[in-house]
Amino acid sequence: MPKHLLYLFLFVLVGCGVTEKKSDNVFFAGEIVNPTSEYIVLYKGESLIDSALLDANNRFYLELDSPENGLYHFKHSPEYQYVYLEKGDSLLIRLNTMDFDESLVFSGSGDEINNFLLELFLAHEAEEPMIYAMYRLEPQEFHQKIDSLKQSKLDQLGILVEEADLSEKEREIAEASIIYNYYTYKEKYPFKHKSYTGNRVVDKLPSDFYAYRETVTFENNDLTYLRPYYNFMINHIGNRSFMSCSQKCGIKNDMVQNHLHFNMHKLSLIDSLVKEKDLRDNLFRNVAFDYLLQIHDTEENNKSFIQEFHRLSRNNKHISEVDELYEGILNIQPDKEIPNINVLNSEGERISLKEIAKDTKTVFYFWSGTDKRHFDNITRRADYLSSKMPEYRFVGINLKTDDAKWRIMVETRNLDKTNQYRAENFEKATKALVIYPMNKCIITEDAKIVDAFSNMYASSLKKSPWKP
Ligand SMILES: [Zn+2]
Repeated sequence: MPKHLLYLFLFVLVGCGVTEKKSDNVFFAGEIVNPTSEYIVLYKGESLIDSALLDANNRFYLELDSPENGLYHFKHSPEYQYVYLEKGDSLLIRLNTMDFDESLVFSGSGDEINNFLLELFLAHEAEEPMIYAMYRLEPQEFHQKIDSLKQSKLDQLGILVEEADLSEKEREIAEASIIYNYYTYKEKYPFKHKSYTGNRVVDKLPSDFYAYRETVTFENNDLTYLRPYYNFMINHIGNRSFMSCSQKCGIKNDMVQNHLHFNMHKLSLIDSLVKEKDLRDNLFRNVAFDYLLQIHDTEENNKSFIQEFHRLSRNNKHISEVDELYEGILNIQPDKEIPNINVLNSEGERISLKEIAKDTKTVFYFWSGTDKRHFDNITRRADYLSSKMPEYRFVGINLKTDDAKWRIMVETRNLDKTNQYRAENFEKATKALVIYPMNKCIITEDAKIVDAFSNMYASSLKKSPWKP
């Protein structure tokens, strides 16, 4: 059947309410109002399943040959959202990118679970400010309020289960989306309460405050890529490491003193709790990125960490990504030469960072054409810092903008062209210079690194030894 006919057929099918499941194939189709990309891409976990091009009427259509039942997500760049698919489903979506999640509507067979998951997602988002206020409450009161919010969502699910004939897996995913969302608030509570009120409540929690921990599953692959479940896991591992660390490993005044120890503690906790391969790999990766990117520990400590990571997670599917990050950080330690990355000047000539930084004191900062506000702010900041520290040359490195647009942006903002360059290969530059967060800057002297993890806005910048 030609695709446009089939598409029409789907609409008619849905329109008539004929949603009987006939084959194992899944039809996933829909209309995107105000598209922000030409494609719809469907994923399961990290695997790309299929993609479709929007037609002239901004409609798309995908047919999957007897796919695995479960949670998928579709991406219409730059946004994405979950979709739950079961064999035989004919599911339609309609969405307007001006209001992505709020405008999304599912219809067809399989629409009940999908609309429910979406409503939950929006309800949880809307509830968040209230939860933030609730973190100030005393433990018992917080405990009761969270439990009653959770119960009211479970009651709604109960009604849906009765009315809509959900499959066991659909019910399980919906329930997990509810309970793990509220469990996450409980995992965060002692820390949030302490930071908002100054009061320590860790030892005053009611005995049943964490009773749910007995029922948490660490080995259900259907939940691995469910956001509320994964968020819970991250917070749970952090909380449990912190609690056992405060007792045994000498955390002082509730502050982590030894980040290497604390993060190795997390690794060993994941090792002992989590057997499911995907979840285990993802959580190990999460700890590695957190530690390596945020802590900026010594070379020696980073090495101990990565050795422990390899010991516990030898066949991690993210291992090359983690190793690359580690190597990248290793190469930009103080006194090392700035990595040999090529950039292009306004004449289109290639020049290396080493060349730019030789015989001078240089601060490299970064921007990309996609975030106009960041560009305005960081170039203004560079102007300001440069007037305070005239012996430093402030050099802007653009990532990911095409030549024409880059030139226009530099012109329009009246930037000194001799201090602006564009990365030849943005991925290579991002990895080698570990450009995270975007406000970071790299300070060099005679092409040697002084500090590769400084920040254009950090207050410590003022105290930094390189400040005159
Ligand atoms: Zn510890």
